[in-house]
Amino acid sequence: MNEHSPSHIKETVMPLGACEPSEEQKDGAEIADTTCARAPIGLLAELTHRCPLQCPYCSNPVELERANTELTTEEWQSVMRQAAELGILQIHLSGGEPTARRDVVDIIKAASECGLYTNLITAAVLLKREQLEKLKEAGLDHVQISIQDTDARPENADRIGGYKGGSAKKKVVAGWVRELGLPLTINAPIHRHNVDNVAGIINYAVELGADRVEIAHVQYYAWALMNRASLMPTREQFNESAKIVEKAREDLKGIIVIDSVVPDYYAKYPKPCMGGWGRGIINITPSGRVLPCHASESITGLDFDNIRDKPLAEIWLNGDAFQKYRGTDWMKEPCRTCPRHEIDFGGCRCQAFALTGDAANTDPACSLSPLHEQWAKVADVESHNASPEFVYRRPGGASRKPGMQKSPATSEA
Ligand code: SF4
Ligand code: SF4
Repeated sequence: MNEHSPSHIKETVMPLGACEPSEEQKDGAEIADTTCARAPIGLLAELTHRCPLQCPYCSNPVELERANTELTTEEWQSVMRQAAELGILQIHLSGGEPTARRDVVDIIKAASECGLYTNLITAAVLLKREQLEKLKEAGLDHVQISIQDTDARPENADRIGGYKGGSAKKKVVAGWVRELGLPLTINAPIHRHNVDNVAGIINYAVELGADRVEIAHVQYYAWALMNRASLMPTREQFNESAKIVEKAREDLKGIIVIDSVVPDYYAKYPKPCMGGWGRGIINITPSGRVLPCHASESITGLDFDNIRDKPLAEIWLNGDAFQKYRGTDWMKEPCRTCPRHEIDFGGCRCQAFALTGDAANTDPACSLSPLHEQWAKVADVESHNASPEFVYRRPGGASRKPGMQKSPATSEA
């Protein structure tokens, strides 16, 4: 779970089909029996893969989608209506950088008018105060700003994000968010280049007036997998950061909520990735591909539907990609007979595929996986070696040179 994953989504079971069917649903193919299904709680809308930052841990796919394939304003507005009708409660507007689209206000307005809770997940460097005011007027409920390090270490923050002046701009935008009375979450992806400053990051989030801070150890998919040898902290560094988080939770009770995401490589059991495949979250890519998780396109052989072709409810209920690993019937041993299989759902399918070649295998993050020892050793070795240079996230190909962009990446979209 890197910075675009809304880690504070709460598990809630909602009845499906509480609303009237949408026009799209009425026109679309038959909807399956919904009585045994549950509605998803959240939808992660990747409005664009354009982003002025170049983070080496970005959770976007290595093949970024191009601007000319993005859904139109009307198509995103339709997604919002369909999401509300499906029973979804929360929309997380993400990217890339969602404010790179000038129609983000219109999309949030459509979501808000349907009664959806809207969370803007932003790197903040493109935002202008006037735009933030318009977003609030349109009904924006919450802002999540990602940071790379604290303002006391701006060179490090800007080096990690590959964007000069980014750290200073984020601080200014966080101030606007609070002045406008919007709730603020600070998301800090943690890795070897900032793990020594976890206490500083938590204190900085308090200083910024955040209600919540996510100390989110990088998860190694996509760009982060490519940069694993540069990013992986040692086990000792991770353990130390975990102690700092525990103490801060006690010290700052009632002041700030601290969420933490543990790196899989140092865990005994895996996380219930996305709360279970096809169980609570839908991800839609900039071009409209509907995914059970933002990394699921890395699994070859899965057939993903596009929102341009089918109604959202039909894809959620019957889509091949959603059905493939939903529930527990697909599991092999040791997961099949494990008492934890409805707790963690066998971990992450994308990680199982990347590391074992079969997405139905147990995630090697699990200590019961036959590959776990070998896998944990990789982390141990890489984290103790010298850190290679970052491979920066860039459209059209990775780069070892960040280029330190500073020009806005907005478009008429
Ligand atoms: S490059 Fe950084 S800021 Fe941009 S989308 Fe990726 S993680 Fe987010
Ligand atoms: S064997 Fe499977 S279900 Fe059991 S703890 Fe490991 S990943 Fe979870």
